[in-house]
Amino acid sequence: MSILVTRPSMPLAEEYMEEIRPIFESHWMTNMGPVYKKFQKQLISFLQVPEMSLFVNGHMALEMAIDALGLKEKGGEVITTPFTFVSTIHAITRNGLKPIFCDIKPDDYTIDPEKIEALITDKTVAIIPVHVYGNICDVEAIQKIADKHGLKVIYDAAHAFGIKYRGIGIGNFGDASMFSFHATKVFNTIEGGGIAFKDKAYASKLHELKNFGIHGTDDVLSIGGNAKLDEFRAAMGICNLRHIEQYIAARKKVVDRYNERLSGVTGIRLCSLRPEVTPNYAYYAVYFDEKKFGKSRDLVFEELADNDIHARKYFYPAINELSCYKNQYPQNTPIAHDVAAHILTLPLYEELSLEDVDRICDIILG
Ligand SMILES: *Cc1c(COP(=O)(O)O)cnc(C)c1O
Repeated sequence: MSILVTRPSMPLAEEYMEEIRPIFESHWMTNMGPVYKKFQKQLISFLQVPEMSLFVNGHMALEMAIDALGLKEKGGEVITTPFTFVSTIHAITRNGLKPIFCDIKPDDYTIDPEKIEALITDKTVAIIPVHVYGNICDVEAIQKIADKHGLKVIYDAAHAFGIKYRGIGIGNFGDASMFSFHATKVFNTIEGGGIAFKDKAYASKLHELKNFGIHGTDDVLSIGGNAKLDEFRAAMGICNLRHIEQYIAARKKVVDRYNERLSGVTGIRLCSLRPEVTPNYAYYAVYFDEKKFGKSRDLVFEELADNDIHARKYFYPAINELSCYKNQYPQNTPIAHDVAAHILTLPLYEELSLEDVDRICDIILG
């Protein structure tokens, strides 16, 4: 059987049926109904955040979070990272803002705060960093820079569901944080996403944006779109949230085994966990140094594929090398390009057996 890089976690069919049964009685299928509200409450409690608004997916959540902070209206530049999923940058440019690419740190691949200030101009309005693979950005240093220059901070926390830093839910940092509940993430609602934030006034702006600008009256207050999370997906979220600890524990076993086999190998660089972070084991990313290891990232990728094992070059290429962004923005991000050329994320999911992990490591090390 082929092994893919990920395999979505699902509850038992019966459990999901039980959760959606009331919807068949009420016929309330969407528009922030009782299941949405129940799920929202559970998420706020689990993620330990003050407020949350739920969306049809993480991308629309991020796009609307940027807009709701008034940045689309204001226009200008946003400092971000080229080492991310393209969604982050699309969300910026689709709001009419200009992405300014800042290089990343070589050890955890998050934005390098020491390189941010040099990129700030009188047009800069925000910083959008990414908690890459669940590695937490240097949130203190980033906030300090943002405060000094009056900038908003929105975290792309798509990889960071359930992570705590110094005992604090990761969604508490910056002005807002976007979580993705896509099928391929640690926690899923099939498709879905959420914005965590503190400011109550922000809640109604997000609500208007995801619901046509309608706010309970005959009148329409603003020009919103449509990006609401429906009741069936909220029900999937309730089921998966019930098992999240177990999903993460199963992932930890896989990660521990990879670490046992791959750490200390010459030419292989792993992500090191920060001591004050409670991780979620979202991704297992390996950097291959061809000269020291003897095999390139691409060769390892091919050897695995020959055995029907499908790792992913994630993120490759760096965003500023994609056709839609190439040569349009100044770039000085050599570390991001180097990491993109050498990184491979290995299969990692709840049901991956340790025998399969061993087989994968045997091929890599063989
Ligand atoms: C998955 C992901 C997104 C987009 O989330 P969707 O829920 O798939 O729309 C954005 N940024 C990053 C880093 C992601 O991994």
